[in-house]
Amino acid sequence: PQIFALRYSAFSTAAESSKTHPNPPRVPNLVGGSFVDSRSSAFIDVVNPATQEVVSQVPLTTNEEFKAAVSAAKQAFPSWRNTPITTRQRIMFKLQELIRRDIDKLALNITTEQGKTLKDAHGDVFRGLEVVEHACGMATLQMGEYVSNVSKGIDTYSLREPLGVCAGICPFNFPAMIPLWMFPVAVTCGNTFVLKPSEKDPGASIMLAELAMEAGLPKGVLNIVHGTNDIVNAICDDEDIKAVSFVGSNTAGMHIYSRAAAKGKRVQSNMGAKNHAIVMPDASEDATLNAIVAAGFGAAGQRCMALSTVVFVGGIKSWEDKLVERAKALKVNAGTEPDADLGPVISKQAKERISRLIQTGADSGARLLLDGRNIVVPGYEQGNFIGPTILSNVTADMECYKEEIFGPVLLCLEVCLLPLPWLYAANPADSLEEAINIVNKNKYGNGASIFTTSGVTARKFQTEIEAGQVGINVPIPVPLPFFSFTGSKASFAGDLNFYGKAGVNFFTQIKTVTQQWKDLPGGGGVNLAMPTSQ
Ligand code: NAD
Repeated sequence: PQIFALRYSAFSTAAESSKTHPNPPRVPNLVGGSFVDSRSSAFIDVVNPATQEVVSQVPLTTNEEFKAAVSAAKQAFPSWRNTPITTRQRIMFKLQELIRRDIDKLALNITTEQGKTLKDAHGDVFRGLEVVEHACGMATLQMGEYVSNVSKGIDTYSLREPLGVCAGICPFNFPAMIPLWMFPVAVTCGNTFVLKPSEKDPGASIMLAELAMEAGLPKGVLNIVHGTNDIVNAICDDEDIKAVSFVGSNTAGMHIYSRAAAKGKRVQSNMGAKNHAIVMPDASEDATLNAIVAAGFGAAGQRCMALSTVVFVGGIKSWEDKLVERAKALKVNAGTEPDADLGPVISKQAKERISRLIQTGADSGARLLLDGRNIVVPGYEQGNFIGPTILSNVTADMECYKEEIFGPVLLCLEVCLLPLPWLYAANPADSLEEAINIVNKNKYGNGASIFTTSGVTARKFQTEIEAGQVGINVPIPVPLPFFSFTGSKASFAGDLNFYGKAGVNFFTQIKTVTQQWKDLPGGGGVNLAMPTSQ
């Protein structure tokens, strides 16, 4: 097969001007250190969601190529695991420097393939870069434990050892951040890796892999394969793959969780969400409105931690006009345009799904305060745009509430239990309780936020809310990598979360050693009783 002497700059330049390319570039596999054109006859178009131009074509990697990628990872493992941790860390130090050098190119590729604004695409890369920075301290993170003299002359210590070949399966919405949640932690722990980027926007993964090779990652330590269900199933079933990291929808995530676990693998599966904010009547008006609008419509709502639902305690009335006004002021445009606040959604199918869910809300009695469905963006008439949309009077039985919309749609619920406002003022705790109940009844548990100026209210919320990532006057509480990404309930399956200490634990196996270095007592004979501490 043709060896791709592919430089990320060449790749992204081709991506930009694909209109003039009758044959869009093909996205290579990465096997054993070489970017290789797939022999597959089946390809999927990677489409710019603002223009419908075909940016590149991604192969359905063949089974033979997949096996070669796993085999390369398996072969690279023994020498990589024995490479000093300081050397592995230094490669991460170099990688973080190279990502900074190329952040503009990475961001442009993300905007071209995924659609988000350039500024947001920078954030996508930056939040992944922070995981690489954290992996630079792996020697400390991976440290074992030691207890001397657990019995006379006997010491016990534990080591955190790499697992072997690990794999990552990525979603479309963070083409750089999510691959960077996965392989830097895995490989710095001493594992080797097979990455399966989203077939919708694989470019950033290729560029990051090129940077990793430039940083000195040895051949075979990181490999990339492409495709959809078949390759994912092959990853789940492969005997040589020891662990699978997945981020994406519940349908895929639960399938992967059970299929890979049935083959004895450990799995961490980050899945869908319906993140709620509770807005208390005492919340700071200006800051709260800005936070809701930014977190609801940023990235066109295609973030797993997007704020998709707001529960207004005390009613929406005093918030409604200003909320609509601020949402209306947002500029919908192609992500490459400097004035864009939100870009298109990923595909025509996504646009249809989102539009349908908006309609089901309206049909079942929600009030459409702002309808972004018919927006036309001049110069980008073919783009999958949906403007900010707000539905009020939403109830928990509505389809738009039960389903993850994953678009620029904010659902508003109200808690105004008591018919008379002064009764609410007399007993705000009841209303908070009711709002917390609404959030807790939702099956997802990725994130939840409260906006309030009361510490008492915030503390009650923090204690009683059943979500893994909690914001107090913070709309998108995604923890930095010295913590972990701790979604819960239906938003996560597994035991060990992504990045932070949990991430290191996920990618390592504990080995506990008990050693005796003392003059053995002579003449004691054979003792068959269970050894106990002496
Ligand atoms: P998706 O599940 O459609 O795709 C994710 C990956 O799984 C892709 O690589 C895809 O090829 C593969 N896949 C899809 N369907 C499959 C199937 N039936 N069998 C096997 N593999 C399959 O998700 P997406 O649309 O790319 O991403 C959006 C979803 O990801 C949303 O639900 C969002 O909430 C979620 N997400 C969650 C987090 C988190 O950390 N919790 C972060 C980002 C995105």
